[in-house]
Amino acid sequence: MPAKPAAAPAADAPPRAPGSGESQVQRALKKLGLVRDIDFALYLPMRYEDETRVVRLVDTRDGETVQVEGVVTDCEVVFRPRRQLIATLDDGSDTVQLRFFNFYPSQQKQLAPGARVRVRGEIKGGFVGRTIMHPTVKAAGTPLPLALTPIYSTIAGLAQPVLRRAVQAGLARAPLHAIVPNPMMPEGAWGLREALSFLHYPAPDVAVATLEDHSHPAWQRLKAEELLAQQLSQLQARRERAAQRAPALQAAVDAGSLHAQLLGVLPFQPTGAQQRADREIALDLARIQPMHRLLQGDVGSGKTLVAALAAARCIDAGFQCALMAPTEILASQHFGKLVGWLDPLLAARGLRVAWLTGSQKKKERDAMEAIVESGEAALVVGTHAVISEKVRFRRLALAIVDEQHRFGVAQRLALRGKAGGIAAGPPLGDAAPSGGSDPQSGGAWGSMALEPHLLMMSATPIPRTLAMSYYADLDVSTLDELPPGRTPVVTKLVAEHRRDEVIERIRGQLAQGRQVYWVCPLIEESEAVDLRNATATRDELAEHLGDAVRVGLLHSRMPTAEKQSVMADFTAGTLHVLVSTTVIEVGVDVPNASLMVIEHAERFGLSQLHQLRGRVGRGAAASACVLLYATGDSGRVGEAARARLKAMVETGDGFEIARRDLEIRGPGEFLGARQSGAPLLRFADLSTDLLLLDWARELAPRLLDRHPELARQHVDRWLGTKAEYLKA
Ligand code: ADP
Ligand code: MG
Repeated sequence: MPAKPAAAPAADAPPRAPGSGESQVQRALKKLGLVRDIDFALYLPMRYEDETRVVRLVDTRDGETVQVEGVVTDCEVVFRPRRQLIATLDDGSDTVQLRFFNFYPSQQKQLAPGARVRVRGEIKGGFVGRTIMHPTVKAAGTPLPLALTPIYSTIAGLAQPVLRRAVQAGLARAPLHAIVPNPMMPEGAWGLREALSFLHYPAPDVAVATLEDHSHPAWQRLKAEELLAQQLSQLQARRERAAQRAPALQAAVDAGSLHAQLLGVLPFQPTGAQQRADREIALDLARIQPMHRLLQGDVGSGKTLVAALAAARCIDAGFQCALMAPTEILASQHFGKLVGWLDPLLAARGLRVAWLTGSQKKKERDAMEAIVESGEAALVVGTHAVISEKVRFRRLALAIVDEQHRFGVAQRLALRGKAGGIAAGPPLGDAAPSGGSDPQSGGAWGSMALEPHLLMMSATPIPRTLAMSYYADLDVSTLDELPPGRTPVVTKLVAEHRRDEVIERIRGQLAQGRQVYWVCPLIEESEAVDLRNATATRDELAEHLGDAVRVGLLHSRMPTAEKQSVMADFTAGTLHVLVSTTVIEVGVDVPNASLMVIEHAERFGLSQLHQLRGRVGRGAAASACVLLYATGDSGRVGEAARARLKAMVETGDGFEIARRDLEIRGPGEFLGARQSGAPLLRFADLSTDLLLLDWARELAPRLLDRHPELARQHVDRWLGTKAEYLKA
């Protein structure tokens, strides 16, 4: 093991509170995720300062950050143009002015004429002479450090020197022995302790840019270890899942089955892609391991039907199915569609579709919960009310989650927990595994808790690199074919000052009997202001379009009943134009709508724009999407916004959109990092570290098989509490 670097000064005592209470510092550290010694060791600087050298003033250039040492020749407080402390420093080669607008009496004392000091700061030229604003000041002659000084990202209440000492202490104490033997690491990788010590306290001759962009070889070790931990935890989750049990749903799909009857009543033929996904799901459902499948398909590709077919298979096997959507509007659209398709068929079986949402009246809700519990509700559709504690399923065996990335981990876990009811339900009959014994539990089948099968749906396709790494634990079905008869949506960029032409265009669409969406963005922090903006737009359109045209408004703040009635009017065609904030973002389906106007399109995210555009082009009519953009004060649209708008005009393909989005934003968003509160990859970057990812993917199964204890320790070191998250 390499020795501790000479450059790192001795570790101070850790900042622990005396007595039992947690100090303010500890609380702040915890907020940064710094608890275990290893957490500190892995908390790397965001940048560095070079305090290793003192230079001569004559040798410095304006704009440089410098450290100089000399005698204070003059120091005074002046009041014009405002109160400030001005000192003059002479280092024998030249002089420089030191200025402070805010200063303590102690600083003034430190800079008393005659004092020998070392100062550090950015030197600037100017007509009053060369100046350093707010330099840091130390006594001259203090020993110079041998390494660059790390600057860590910190939060209020945690001063940099305090954090630095804490990291140093953690680094010194952390057990940094190689868990995975060095020879297994990628060739040329540094030792872990060596790499970490270097990254906290690099030698002054390093090219700092390679530290900051993570291309320095010391980074390779961290990236490799992190990716390995991530692969191991995925693999582990996959194996655990394989050991779990779910009811095998393998009812015969004969003419009398719900599945066959549903296909019989559809007004259209399922696409080839829908049929393929349905078959893939059927195979999963028939197994005794819980399905863990993502159904990904561009907006409008017909995921709802695939969900309905899966539900039918589940019901045919004598079990219940739950479908959960992130918003009430979306859930109610699903409900409407599924009731239409399935309720008449279910009625003949004494079953029905139930509806559960948070805004429901208590009486209705109680009634719905009762039929969920009795099992009369074969299919339960709703928002996350579906997983509230009070809801008890009789025999839940399939959970379908639409727009899965919009749900938190906790919610997905809760849904899995709902299957507890299965074991308590009536005899499992032909759902029991043929072998009957389970090597993992060592017990009887009846004593095992069962998990429901899980089908997740998303219109945001996972980029291939992420599918291989983060979602290695997930099976994926892809709807790569749109239902026939769709015309591609023409996308146009229009500057805000041509708004009138857009309104003309709306008139044209309405004249053909079509309908129009107009989406207003979130502009202000306050919803009230947004509502005012959207209301103003509605009034403006109503005025321009005349009395014969009905313009409606949909906003997230409206009461649910009102929202639903507006949506119902728009679906029925009695509303012609729907002005909305982004509440219509996901899933709504009104095939007669042929024009989508998005105001301030530059403010929207790329996948959000793509989703919104997907609301049109659902019928046979040629459809268009107008992206109205406004330039900022600079008269230009920002670079990232420009890239997003360009992508929208250039492609309608959801996979290409996802690829570009990844390029523009980085992978964080796809991983639900916002929900977890912490980015999942701190060191590696999937857009640049694919070779290391390959290495990790190859090593992970061997390591897990041959050295399971090392694998466990490795995951624990690198992911700690996050490992649980990765399994969800
Ligand atoms: P998404 O994948 O975006 O959730 P939907 O399930 O809402 O898409 O389907 C979009 C529209 O296409 C709906 O009106 C749906 O009824 C219709 N649809 C689905 N499958 C087909 C098909 N095979 N042929 C024709 N229309 C279809
Ligand atoms: Mg949908």
